[in-house]
Amino acid sequence: MLVAFNQGNAQIRSIYLTPHHVIAEEDAASVATFLATTLPSGIQFRATEKRISPYATYFTFQQVIDGIPVENVQLKVTVQSNHIQYISGTYYQVQETDHARVMAQHVDGLVFRVNDNKLEQYTRQLVSRGNNDLLFEYRTPDGQLAFVDDRRSYFILPDTLVHALVFLPDPITTAETTYGGLFVDMDDADAVALNNERVDLLMPATFENDTFFLRTENIVLKDLNVPVIPIAYALSDTFHYTREEDGFEDVQALFHLTNMVSYLTSIGYEVLTDFYIEVDPHGASGADQSFYVSASPPSIQFGVGGVDDAEDGDVIIHEYVHGLSDFASPASNTGLERRAIDEGYGDYFAASYSRGYSEYDWFNIFNWDAHNEYWAGRNANTDKHYPEDNSDNYYAASEIWSGALMDIYDIIGKEACDKIVCEALYASFANMTMHEAALALLEAEDLVYAQTYQAEIFDALYARGLVWPDDITNQGVPAEIQILNSMGFAAGSGPLSIEFPEKAHTHWQLIDISGHLIVQGEEENNSFQIAPVDAPPGVFCLRLNVDGQVFSTRLIIY
Ligand SMILES: [Zn+2]
Repeated sequence: MLVAFNQGNAQIRSIYLTPHHVIAEEDAASVATFLATTLPSGIQFRATEKRISPYATYFTFQQVIDGIPVENVQLKVTVQSNHIQYISGTYYQVQETDHARVMAQHVDGLVFRVNDNKLEQYTRQLVSRGNNDLLFEYRTPDGQLAFVDDRRSYFILPDTLVHALVFLPDPITTAETTYGGLFVDMDDADAVALNNERVDLLMPATFENDTFFLRTENIVLKDLNVPVIPIAYALSDTFHYTREEDGFEDVQALFHLTNMVSYLTSIGYEVLTDFYIEVDPHGASGADQSFYVSASPPSIQFGVGGVDDAEDGDVIIHEYVHGLSDFASPASNTGLERRAIDEGYGDYFAASYSRGYSEYDWFNIFNWDAHNEYWAGRNANTDKHYPEDNSDNYYAASEIWSGALMDIYDIIGKEACDKIVCEALYASFANMTMHEAALALLEAEDLVYAQTYQAEIFDALYARGLVWPDDITNQGVPAEIQILNSMGFAAGSGPLSIEFPEKAHTHWQLIDISGHLIVQGEEENNSFQIAPVDAPPGVFCLRLNVDGQVFSTRLIIY
């Protein structure tokens, strides 16, 4: 029922609960009431966001100390049909001295974040370095620049229908070739070989005052940043450009974004796309990079260095997925592993989107923009393994996550995998680890497919080192068997209480992570208690044999 991943003296603790607790209303107040009775005393959270997916409602909670927020400490609570299904995230173990520090915050205008496992005070200032180029600078109270929170997500180095000529998704894939020969950028010049790869399709646009504009209700192309290139428009319903023309990138951006929206709608996730976003197909100050900006409104800028980024469908989808992720789990893309997960989600959908058209070299992310003289790109089929291939370079680490997701895609297919990943986007929280994201993926599968693919997904994640042998049994205890006071048991301050709807014969065993029996007993009752055990801190498995049926769940002792 309860798992905490970080041990020892760590002041940040990760928690994972599957309470299956019933609430009268699916609202933040009801969830907050349950949290208050569940979290250790002195740990307080307040609701900040609510999102409704096709399968569940997700509440984001932020930790507060005496009412003052700890900026980057979040819990995510998943509710389905009035049941609190999952609680995951982290909390900061409040220290006695913190209350005085928090009081001083009112005076000094400081903000609090957990950094390097400690509660730190900072001044925070929004710094703008050009259009939509938002950064937060955090300084220690004596004025030293501590770090910069870059709100951009890069990859580095009533609508009417109009006719559009686009790459689907890029000329390398459709020509089944590699970068080189006739298939080179040539500084954006026209070439017959490249123009021949364009496909004539229909896409939504807006017709207003006798003019066709490249925008929909939610996706608006706009010239946000240099280079200054006005967005194309037309007096007829035809947007046919060669790749040399600037209108080509405009058409590419709107086509692939709206095409992704209609695909997500077709699999039930229109709600995930229900936000306004501005997009500059020629932006990023002309650099060979593109980025998503988490702001109000959110935006994407595509760079024009090297191959124009908006000529590559993979880049367009990758950046848009940062937007989907941000909309599903607001303010959660902070922390190195969490950011690697977001890059991995973007690359996963880029690969999945591309594979929807062609299997050719699907594993090369950014087939046309990268894997060439300009930059190496990334791959969605590396053999990277957690945790050894995790690192501070979150772009490199993201290949663990995209690789694991594509392993699952290979086993369960595109649509099932896409739906599970869409659902998992709602379950992200600040400073999430890849292990926690893997658990969120299993939860998402449970919500969408009721464990149809659980074994396959578990095996794929296990092969990447992302789940533990007993993660899968964590959901094994049915809701009618209640396991109470796991927090008290974890802290050694009180017994674990197990309650059944009626009298049952139970053989229980507490087993450590390496499979050694710590303590066991037999009970014949409708409830019993397990006294705190004298064992070294760690994760344990509680196995219950109830009238011949075996269930297990994980417990922590610290
Ligand atoms: Zn990215």
